[in-house]
Amino acid sequence: MILVFIILSLVVVAFLAHYNFWRPVKKCSLPRILMYHNTSNQVSSGMNITPELLEKQIQYLIQKQYTFLKISDLPSFTQITKHVVLTFDDGFVGNHTYLFELLKKYKVPATIYLTPDIQGIEALSSSQIKEMQTSGFVEFGAHTMTHVNLTKADNDRAQKEIIQSKEAVEKLTGISCYSFAYPYGRYNEQHVQMVKNAGFTTAVTTKKAIAAFDHSNPYTLPRLSISGCINMIQFYLILSRGRYKL
Ligand SMILES: [Zn+2]
Repeated sequence: MILVFIILSLVVVAFLAHYNFWRPVKKCSLPRILMYHNTSNQVSSGMNITPELLEKQIQYLIQKQYTFLKISDLPSFTQITKHVVLTFDDGFVGNHTYLFELLKKYKVPATIYLTPDIQGIEALSSSQIKEMQTSGFVEFGAHTMTHVNLTKADNDRAQKEIIQSKEAVEKLTGISCYSFAYPYGRYNEQHVQMVKNAGFTTAVTTKKAIAAFDHSNPYTLPRLSISGCINMIQFYLILSRGRYKL
């Protein structure tokens, strides 16, 4: 009997560790900034979500009456409730093949952070970027030139990576680039200043949290990382509480 009780208790603890229903629900007036990377039919991972799962998540957000914003819209929409920003880092080509189709199908926007000189991924071409930009469904931000960890670069290199990526994205899109994403979510106060001085109006991090957009954090905005391996209950928990597991 005691053994059954212990086993049952362990099962409950394991469940609650992977389904954090016990976390407090965050106010729906706070923006949810979701972080993704690639969209493709490759194996689901922290970096890749299948188009089928992403579509289910978009349908869920629409059904729950979320307003979809581009990141640069955030400062103008601090008064509305239930707003969500879809962000995709690095500039994977899969975001043209699959994500772009979903954005057009559901008429919702997203923000893609480009890394113009990134190595080792199949990246968006300049014509794909132009096509997505022209559609009005995609806003492009900058994510350094080479996906450098800014905290491991000297200040001169860090400054160049930030400024040059803004210029490169502007050249690719033909319009101003207002938002920056810190690669690996790594940065310090000096990098925040560099991003500000470069003329960006917002910057996103990988800090997992749901927070108000206010004067304290336009350059250190938290995001909710959405792995391609989560189910819809875990997606609901992330949206409502900021995290689904310990
Ligand atoms: Zn990245």
